[in-house]
Amino acid sequence: MTATAPVQVAIDGPSGSGKSSVSKAVARALGVGYLDTGAMYRALAWWCLDTGVDLGDREAVAREAARMPLVQSSDPSNPTVAMGGQDISTAIRSERITKAVTAVATNTLVRPVLQQRQREAMASIASATGGVVAEGRDITTVVAPEADVRILLTANEAARLVRRSTEIHGTADMAAVEATRDQIVRRDAADSTVSNFIDAAPGVVVVDTSDLDFDESVAAVLAVVDGRPGERQ
Ligand code: C5P
Repeated sequence: MTATAPVQVAIDGPSGSGKSSVSKAVARALGVGYLDTGAMYRALAWWCLDTGVDLGDREAVAREAARMPLVQSSDPSNPTVAMGGQDISTAIRSERITKAVTAVATNTLVRPVLQQRQREAMASIASATGGVVAEGRDITTVVAPEADVRILLTANEAARLVRRSTEIHGTADMAAVEATRDQIVRRDAADSTVSNFIDAAPGVVVVDTSDLDFDESVAAVLAVVDGRPGERQ
């Protein structure tokens, strides 16, 4: 990359599109920091459950969104998540949190608060590391519509089910895929009620990874970044 202004790369997409692993690899390749915005919704769910805040109390959860003591590492090779000094990187991936997070992510009082925290995090990561790759569901549209590069990473439902199933159960046999279906389909349906990550907004480039392996997906995203006028040589 040329050493010009920090590059901001925004990547949205549904579960199982390969978004997280591809975003981390892209950040590593560009030598910039990484922000997992889904981890922030998960961390808020964890914090509310841990401190006894009722997830159904929309105002109370939004208050916690503003004041939870969340610290995320922007290192794409080790993007840890800590709350008040406690490492919760693994805890926020539990099934309990994966179930609970929908109530938090669909809380319309919470979203503007976390979106603002995400804008601040993107700016500080970009100035510290020379750029940022931020991934989520509404980064290209709401959090950073002015990002230099905006990508919607998609894959058809069959490909997404196989990937998530392999990730969670270590196999993509029929039983494992069926066990994963509810998680993917139900969660994406609930999430789609608050952000549109199925259709690309104007100016957002679609990268369909259905027929791409991991390395090909990373290369496809880097090609979009390369295509940005006036930057990479
Ligand atoms: O991507 P991940 O599964 O970690 O996201 C956790 C939850 O946060 C999901 O329900 C997802 O839809 C939601 N989310 C969101 N907006 C974002 C990122 C994630 O609503 N920018």
